[in-house]
Amino acid sequence: MSAKPILVLGAGVSGLSTAITLLRAGLPVAIWARELPPHTTSNQAAALWFPYLAQPLERVNRWANVSLQFFREQLLPDPASGCQPVTVHDLYDHPVAEPWWAAAAGGDYRRLDPGRLPAGYRDGFETESVVIDTSIYMDYLVAWFRRLGGELLQKEVASMYEALAVADVVINCTGLGSRQLAGDDSVYPVRGQTARVRPNGFGEALLDDEGPNSLGYIIPRSADIVLGGTAQENDWDLSLRASDRADILRKAAAMHPAFAEVEILSEGVGLRPARPTVRLEAEALPDGKRLVHNYGHGGAGFTLSWGCAEEARMKMKG
Ligand SMILES: Cc1cc2nc3c(=O)[nH]c(=O)nc-3n(C[C@H](O)[C@H](O)[C@H](O)COP(=O)(O)OP(=O)(O)OC[C@H]3O[C@@H](n4cnc5c(N)ncnc54)[C@H](O)[C@@H]3O)c2cc1C
Repeated sequence: MSAKPILVLGAGVSGLSTAITLLRAGLPVAIWARELPPHTTSNQAAALWFPYLAQPLERVNRWANVSLQFFREQLLPDPASGCQPVTVHDLYDHPVAEPWWAAAAGGDYRRLDPGRLPAGYRDGFETESVVIDTSIYMDYLVAWFRRLGGELLQKEVASMYEALAVADVVINCTGLGSRQLAGDDSVYPVRGQTARVRPNGFGEALLDDEGPNSLGYIIPRSADIVLGGTAQENDWDLSLRASDRADILRKAAAMHPAFAEVEILSEGVGLRPARPTVRLEAEALPDGKRLVHNYGHGGAGFTLSWGCAEEARMKMKG
């Protein structure tokens, strides 16, 4: 292994988790990123551990499960991480034999009694998840990275050659930026708008991915509750839309009466870096250098973060 630092591109959840994983393995690491927290897409996520909008299913389930264990063992014990346990109710308007995310949760789920389903739903599952308050967690990751000796530089990279000129191993965690940087037209934005409302004592996360209030979610955090959402493909618009706000509030009220009236504290928009499949693979370059890609996590960047980081570390070695 070269003594030169490994260069990670990107300081969203993928880049920071990957860089921390490498530092924990005793490897020197630097990050170059165009935007740093709090100005990344990752900062716009709620976020909940829950696989959404990411493929292929078998790898996603594995990465998600590894990440869930990591969140439970390494992050939940530290209240400063912004991570807390939360019970999730995943709701359906039709009978479902088994939730598609069962393997990701390690088989740990229960069917909801019909009496616990909100109006308009016919089936639902409950699982123990983790809420990751990105307004705390992203800064926590940056501090962890620095404490382990990592160097963080705000710098836009115009081409991979620029990065490979200074490092023997480059790990590309640039999300949507890989459209240009890796010349990958298959990465595309899926726009998400959210509203953060004043806490009202509601403590469970509710999700409707494909039912009457799709894509609706309610995610309680320590200082607010995040209501969502939207999933608008190939929509690059980062401005807030009144029509989306109205739709988000309508869906939350339909999912639970506690949200019939809310006080909005702040709102946000982010572009999920979607791709037909997550790109997690290595390119061996002719000069012996190595380029590992870790991007395209769609709506599951946090959910997959530690599993993908560990696999990126393995791919680095060949
Ligand atoms: C509204 C919303 C809700 C979400 N909710 C959840 C959730 O509940 N759970 C979940 O798991 N996920 C959720 N997501 C998805 C999650 O936010 C993304 O999957 C994740 O943030 C992707 O992280 P990333 O690090 O790959 O990319 P980003 O966070 O986009 O980071 C990319 C980094 O690369 C840098 N970069 C890009 N191009 C260049 C370049 N040329 N040179 C240098 N640096 C560059 C950027 O500046 C940035 O630092 C949500 C997303 C949205 C928008």
